[in-house]
Amino acid sequence: MQILRTPTEMQEWSLEARHLGQSVGFVPTMGALHRGHATLMRHSVQENNVSVLSIFVNPTQFNVADDFEKYPRTFETDLEIARENQISAVYAPTVETMYPPSSSVTVQPGTASHGMEGAMRPGHFEGVTTVVAKLFNSVLPHRAYFGKKDYQQLAVIRQMVVDLNFPIEIIGVDTVREADGLALSSRNVRLTQQHRDDASAISQGLFTALRMHQGGVHDSQKLKEAVNSTVSESQLAKIEYVEICHPTTLTPIVNTQDGAVICVAAWYGDVRLIDNIELPSA
Ligand code: AMP
Repeated sequence: MQILRTPTEMQEWSLEARHLGQSVGFVPTMGALHRGHATLMRHSVQENNVSVLSIFVNPTQFNVADDFEKYPRTFETDLEIARENQISAVYAPTVETMYPPSSSVTVQPGTASHGMEGAMRPGHFEGVTTVVAKLFNSVLPHRAYFGKKDYQQLAVIRQMVVDLNFPIEIIGVDTVREADGLALSSRNVRLTQQHRDDASAISQGLFTALRMHQGGVHDSQKLKEAVNSTVSESQLAKIEYVEICHPTTLTPIVNTQDGAVICVAAWYGDVRLIDNIELPSA
């Protein structure tokens, strides 16, 4: 497995693979790898001749400096996990390589970025679209794999790829969960045991709403209330938002009959968790 550190090294590696007629799959991550990331890697390895994993904790997408500093970093273990999952090359540039002092161009995210995470975390999605565009231009993949766990991020990337004509197929992968339903996240390791136990209420609330939707309840307000009341059973949870949106535009909708996504953000202590569930059209 190759470890590449600069855009030029990465581009040369990828151009060589493409020249040999190989398809290049790409899994962008911030490291601290878990089974969710491994699932993305498996999809990429199955569907492409070679697969690149990037590990880069991107400072420009953290709107709170403390969150960036506390973000878990486990590079050596990550390399082992990448190897076990048959990744061909790891791209791990430094912050200085990605953002030399002279750099000033950014990518403005589109309309899907306006609500929820975009509203709560100013600058977050501009950081995401800019870093993903830079990574795409270095890795030069045919296909890129993103988790539905970060549903709005996936929608924002899909818009960017269409609007800026990136010749890359974007593939969304289902959320991987713990046995009690909690969505795997690199941030989960920072939860106290009590917070960890209570946090399973997020997915329980979402699955309750899915069952209600399947049972004929399509009123967004009623579904939101169900999620809110389940999560609020824990005194320790502080809900930031529960939104029900159109699955691609992410604009809020009042009726879920034609399909929707419910997105939640909640704090447990100083750890912010997000999760979502898709409601199929009835
Ligand atoms: P991150 O390292 O947290 O930026 O995540 C890298 C990629 O892994 C993103 O596309 C995430 O959506 C995806 N991901 C994170 N957690 C999960 C999960 N529990 N299931 C599936 N994909 C995930």
